[in-house]
Amino acid sequence: MLFKIKEIGDDGLSLDLPVKAPWLAAECPGLDAVPSTGGLKVRGQLLMTGDDVFLRGTLRGGLDTTCARCLERARVAVDVALTVTFRPRSEGQDAVDEEDEDEELDVALYDGDEVDLAPEVRDQILLAFPLKPLCREECLGLCSVCGGNRNQAPCDCEERQAASRTPLATVLGKLKI
Ligand SMILES: [Zn+2]
Ligand SMILES: [Zn+2]
Repeated sequence: MLFKIKEIGDDGLSLDLPVKAPWLAAECPGLDAVPSTGGLKVRGQLLMTGDDVFLRGTLRGGLDTTCARCLERARVAVDVALTVTFRPRSEGQDAVDEEDEDEELDVALYDGDEVDLAPEVRDQILLAFPLKPLCREECLGLCSVCGGNRNQAPCDCEERQAASRTPLATVLGKLKI
């Protein structure tokens, strides 16, 4: 996701970049996800103002991952705005100056004659990704007793186990009627 400054003309440079599975695996290790069949794309424009490069675009599409409850496939929809200002790094500068930090605007530094969109795209993917992705909001998950997928085969193991643990059930269990 590197772009040469000289590629960005006076009218800007249009972007239409698919996020690919190998890139995702390399940039977001530990993220159990691949772009869904519809894809995940960065669309927008790079524009120059002086030495600043503006990215105005969107990151849209879907990621396929594993449902945190039932372990079946879950789809995470991604639709976020990308608004980043890249400033040339001055000599010895490690971080963005605080006065340049703006709550509305992301500021990043670039080196030499190219800007790298990868860290921004990676951050937005990680931010958009839920802690516990679900195949659907009302997913019933796996049964902790029989291990079955309760979306596909409802069972009452957990209820029965809970009932058998009540003091009354224990007493009743000992009585031979
Ligand atoms: Zn599920
Ligand atoms: Zn069960």
